Amino acid sequence: MKKKDISVCLVEKGVEVGSHILSGAVIDPVALNELIPNWKEKGAPLNTKVSEDNFSLFSEKNYLTIPQILMPPLMNNKNNYIISLGDLSHWLSKEAEDLGVEIYPGFTAQEPLFNDQNELIGILTGDMGRDAKGNETNNYVPGIEIHAKYSLIAEGARGSVTKLIEQKLSLRKNSDPQKYGLGFKEIWRLKKDMHKPGLVEHSLGWPLQDNTGGGSFTYHYGEDLVSLGFVVHLDYSNPYLSPFDEFQKFKTHPKIKKLLTGAERISYGARALNEGGIQSWASLVFPGGLFLGCSAGMVNVPRIKGTHNAMKSGILAAEATVDAIIDPTKIHNRKLTAYNQKIKDSWIWTDLYAVRNIKPLITKFGTRLGMLFWRY
Ligand SMILES: Cc1cc2nc3c(=O)[nH]c(=O)nc-3n(C[C@H](O)[C@H](O)[C@H](O)COP(=O)(O)OP(=O)(O)OC[C@H]3O[C@@H](n4cnc5c(N)ncnc54)[C@H](O)[C@@H]3O)c2cc1C
Repeated sequence: MKKKDISVCLVEKGVEVGSHILSGAVIDPVALNELIPNWKEKGAPLNTKVSEDNFSLFSEKNYLTIPQILMPPLMNNKNNYIISLGDLSHWLSKEAEDLGVEIYPGFTAQEPLFNDQNELIGILTGDMGRDAKGNETNNYVPGIEIHAKYSLIAEGARGSVTKLIEQKLSLRKNSDPQKYGLGFKEIWRLKKDMHKPGLVEHSLGWPLQDNTGGGSFTYHYGEDLVSLGFVVHLDYSNPYLSPFDEFQKFKTHPKIKKLLTGAERISYGARALNEGGIQSWASLVFPGGLFLGCSAGMVNVPRIKGTHNAMKSGILAAEATVDAIIDPTKIHNRKLTAYNQKIKDSWIWTDLYAVRNIKPLITKFGTRLGMLFWRY
């Protein structure tokens, strides 16, 4: 079989690829460089290169910026870009379509489908045209089964199909429980004199107590835009803590208040992120499919970055799948086991192995000491 005979179908629940993505991210372009080396000439929407990178500790009224030289090298954002991740996802979807990928936006993968041997054989899409109570309306269209030789699951953190597959095939029996954080992100249009294109700022500390993990980010990009966000680790012990209210408090810090005075908030959202690290990965490969990106949990927590790993895992999964389809004799039980080794041999593993203890250290010793022990 020739590569071009392989049919690839992508199901996306958003109205278009990128519409459910929280925009305003700093991405490490390492995977994009591998996938589309001439992305600049092709007009990929990466327009703001990081020009300044600060990390600060916040108290209620003040902040202390840590000199870059004291920061672990992997926290450095040199050569990274501040982008709209929604725009990049959309741009990539057009590249994929040009290569013949069939994309079905507006379709949810609702349930995994298994055969009698417990092999994944595809997904069932969600019904359309039901009212709020679940009753069929005149526009009702039942979900359809999409069958595939291999299904690559890339739902992001806490995906519902991912969980059903993990449960059905007991894929978490050798892993630690997953840990989660909740991240808020708002895009603001700043007053011109407050905007510093390329400036990346992260903070730890106020308003969070030391025994609550989390921190903030502020990324200046595009036309007077800033992506302002706050992450709270969801293993906090204070039952009265409200992550959303902590974010609101954070915006009253003199530094942030000054930044936002006269600015206009133009979009906002929140979503979960995985924080368990490699020890919390479920088995990545199972009969008929595999997990990619944040379906597997490939976020680097201290960097707050997972896009590069998600893309690279897609590249490696595609290689393993194409090899399996071209030469099925090497495959047993429809398991793409080559993917496991490819991940271990790749820079995804190096990136995530280095930070595997960060979350356990923060949980045990608090944010400040946890970060220190990890560093030294
Ligand atoms: C607040 C916050 C800030 C972050 N900042 C950064 C950053 O600056 N840089 C960085 O690199 N990373 C950042 N991350 C992490 C990054 O967003 C993720 O690592 C990355 O998006 C993972 O990519 P993914 O493709 O695995 O999943 P996602 O980006 O979550 O994409 C999953 C896609 O699948 C679709 N989908 C999900 N379930 C279904 C279903 N059942 N049926 C059909 N479609 C479905 C979704 O609509 C979505 O389009 C941040 C995360 C958070 C929460």
